Amino acid sequence: MIYLVPALSLCAFWLAGETGLLAVAIAIPMLAGAMAVLGDPLQARQTRQRSHTIGPELFKQRAQEELDICRSEGRKCAIIMLQLDDADELAERLGQSAMDQLGEQTAARIKSVLRDGDILGTFGSEKFGICLKPQASLDLDTCLQLAHRLTTAVEEPYAVDGTNVYVSACIGFCQLGRENPKLDTVGKDLPRVVNTDAVLLCAMIALDTARAEGPAAIRAYAAGMQAQAAPVENTQQTVLEALENGEIVPWFQPQISTDTGLITGFECLARWVNPSNGMLSPSEFIPHIQSANKMGRLLEVMLYHALTAIKAWDQSGLEIQQVAVNFSPEELSDPGVVEKIAWELDRFEVTPERLTVEILETVVAKGPDDIVTRNIKGLADLGCRIDLDDFGTGHASLAALRRFCVSPIKVDRSFVTKSDRDPEQQRMIRAILTMAERLGLETLAEGVETVGEHALLAQLGCTHVQGFGIGRPMPFDQTMNWIRAHNDKLQAPPQIGRTAR
Ligand code: C2E
Ligand code: CA
Ligand code: CA
Repeated sequence: MIYLVPALSLCAFWLAGETGLLAVAIAIPMLAGAMAVLGDPLQARQTRQRSHTIGPELFKQRAQEELDICRSEGRKCAIIMLQLDDADELAERLGQSAMDQLGEQTAARIKSVLRDGDILGTFGSEKFGICLKPQASLDLDTCLQLAHRLTTAVEEPYAVDGTNVYVSACIGFCQLGRENPKLDTVGKDLPRVVNTDAVLLCAMIALDTARAEGPAAIRAYAAGMQAQAAPVENTQQTVLEALENGEIVPWFQPQISTDTGLITGFECLARWVNPSNGMLSPSEFIPHIQSANKMGRLLEVMLYHALTAIKAWDQSGLEIQQVAVNFSPEELSDPGVVEKIAWELDRFEVTPERLTVEILETVVAKGPDDIVTRNIKGLADLGCRIDLDDFGTGHASLAALRRFCVSPIKVDRSFVTKSDRDPEQQRMIRAILTMAERLGLETLAEGVETVGEHALLAQLGCTHVQGFGIGRPMPFDQTMNWIRAHNDKLQAPPQIGRTAR
């Protein structure tokens, strides 16, 4: 349009003199303004949609308006809450600014699935609320299909610093009319807000339920779903009390051999199990233990339960070779840690090779720290296995792998996710496995969620696997049944023909 201005001005001046020139000067800006709004529907839509991304308070207010309209006009509506899985871990790995970008990209993907008139609200960079626009009919199936489209959009890889990052999300939703209007307590993420509509509260409770069963879970609010009772406040004081009164315990996640399918061990993962809060994962309480300088106490607790579990499995005739315990940098900086471990092993009469010490690659990569180096060497000399955790995230030198007698290396979950479908992921895994093989190190892949990933890792020569696809972390009293069921499955003859499931 701009390149026509001189010609139009000349024509106007030629035809109508100064009046014509004046008319052109007024008409062109008005025309340009009108075209900006009407002429480019895509841009107009994007502008409209952008203005629909709003913060929590405005979201609640707008959602309330829509729900009121639906109630008075007998129309249908639903509120959907979506939260990215493992957001704390992602933020730690990628940094907060990359995380914010990822949040923005997620919002854009959600918008691409929504229709005009749906409202999108952001609750921080990892949590989103959606209020569907009032409509004549909206059934459970339609909501579920939309939820699936949303999770599929989120699961497409994100490009962060030149690599693909895979993310998943949980969804909870509540349809108008299915809410519990008598709610008076709410989930831990949500302080009681007197004027918040029950539909929104129930969507949040459904999200809490999905997250407890996640990752990548979708749950619709149902009558029996209970809001959690007023949660115990997650402060340093309450966490330390929980550590002392036995509420923080390990849950056990199985590790199996890709060759034989046999269970080769369990990893101990700390959980805070409390009647009010339900189960909390380490990212929610370990920072308090760290800031109180009590990581040594956490190690004592975890070790006690780990060794007790080994004795109990032995007594039940179940062959579990080893149990792995996570050691933090703080614990590894304790000059007395080797003696402490040796003493505990002795007390429980468990031989050292049955205790695996998991050390983060980032700790080993930090370079020579006299105490940490001496302790890792000391634990290896004692006979403990040293697993290098989150391998691929921390730049440990090959010399360090040798020096610390590491085996196996635990291939980080970020490389494993979608590896059966993404050639770039496969290239990374192949490189890690080739390096490990040349160095004579065993490998254990973490975060194996699907049969496809499991099969690929076995085919590429990874020796062990661990992940939700094999077994989720579970309380000790569920391990016996799990082990027996797994062993029975291995012994069952393969089913052939039409009856095979
Ligand atoms: P980690 O040692 O890398 O543990 C693996 C984490 O991945 C666990 O998270 C586990 O629940 C999760 N996970 C396992 N399989 C899958 C899967 O297939 N998919 C997905 N999405 N996740 C999977 P968790 O239990 O939340 O632990 C997080 C981190 O907290 C651990 O990462 C570890 O670094 C730390 N941690 C846990 N327990 C302890 C402990 O007793 N002491 C210390 N120092 N750190 C601990
Ligand atoms: Ca670990
Ligand atoms: Ca790990």
